[in-house]
Amino acid sequence: MRHDHLITSKQLSRGDITEVLDHAAEIADDPGAVLEKHAGTLLGLLFFEPSTRTKMSFETAMKRLGGDVVDMGSIESSSVKKGETLADTVRVIEGYADALVLRHPREGAPKMASEYVDVPLVNAGDGAGHHPSQTLLDLYTIRENAGLEDLSVGIMGDLKYGRTVHSLAYALTKFDASQHFISPESLQLPREVVYDLHQNGATVREHGDLESILPTLDVLYVTRIQQERFPDENEYRKVAGEYRIDAGTLEAADDDLTVMHPLPRVDEIAPEVDDTGHAAYFEQAHNGVPVRMALLDLLLGDSDE
Ligand code: ASP
Repeated sequence: MRHDHLITSKQLSRGDITEVLDHAAEIADDPGAVLEKHAGTLLGLLFFEPSTRTKMSFETAMKRLGGDVVDMGSIESSSVKKGETLADTVRVIEGYADALVLRHPREGAPKMASEYVDVPLVNAGDGAGHHPSQTLLDLYTIRENAGLEDLSVGIMGDLKYGRTVHSLAYALTKFDASQHFISPESLQLPREVVYDLHQNGATVREHGDLESILPTLDVLYVTRIQQERFPDENEYRKVAGEYRIDAGTLEAADDDLTVMHPLPRVDEIAPEVDDTGHAAYFEQAHNGVPVRMALLDLLLGDSDE
C-alpha cells in the first residue's frame, strides 16, 4: 500500500483495499507467521473520544505483531487538559512511537495532525467524518459472508452523523455495490456526501423504511443513533428507537442476509437476532484484529526492521 497515513477510505483504491483484506486473511490463517515481525515497535494511541473495540483491537494487533503500545490515556489525565494543541501533542508522541492512531471529536483533526508527523498516522474516527480502519474490517466481514461482487447493501440508521457509514459508502462505491440508505429524513446522508458519492460513480438510493428493500439485500448494516453528536437532546429523542431490527423483521429477508453493526448497539438490534444465522456483528468486531494487524504491517513496512 503506497500511503503514509490512513485518513479516509476515499484515498484507498480497490487494489489497496484488496491488498489489506488479502493480507488480513493470510494473517487470520497463520497468525504465527507474523508473531515477532514488529518486535520492538511502539504504537501511540491518542483517543480524545471514548473507544472500546477500535482502541483494544489496535492494541491487540500491535502486540500480536510483537510490538507494544504507548497510550496517551484520557484527556483528563493528559496535557491536553492544560491547553496543549493537537499539533504539539502529536509532534511529542511521534518521538515516542513508530506509528500513531488518533481518534478526535473534530472532523478533519487527523488530517491536520498527519501534516505534522513523519510516522504513519491512522484516523480512528474524526467526529461525524470518517473511520477508515472500521471500513476495512467491515469489508473483510462482507467479503467473508457475502463476497464483494454483485452486492446489494442496505445501510440503516444514523447516516448523518455515522462516520462508519460515510467511510463504508465510499469504499463500496469502488466495488460497484448497489447501495440503499435507510433512515428518517432528519438523519439522511449529508448532501455533500451524496454529491461526492455521485461524483465517484455511486447511485445513492434513499428510503424511509426498510420493508420494501429488505428482501433484495445481501447485507444489512445497522448503525446506532449518534446521540453525542446531536446539538439538541429533543431532536435525538424524536428519532431514538426508530428502525429496530428483531426476528420478526428478518422474516422477510433472504435466508443468506448478513446483518452487521459497527457496535456499540443500543437497541437497534434485538438480542434475539444474535442467535440467528444472520448476525455477523460479533464476528465483525473480532475481525478488527487481523485486519488491523494487516494494516499496521503494511503501513510500517520494513521501516522498523
Ligand atoms: N464504534 C463506531 C464509531 O466509533 C460506531 C459507533 O460509535 O456508533 O464510530
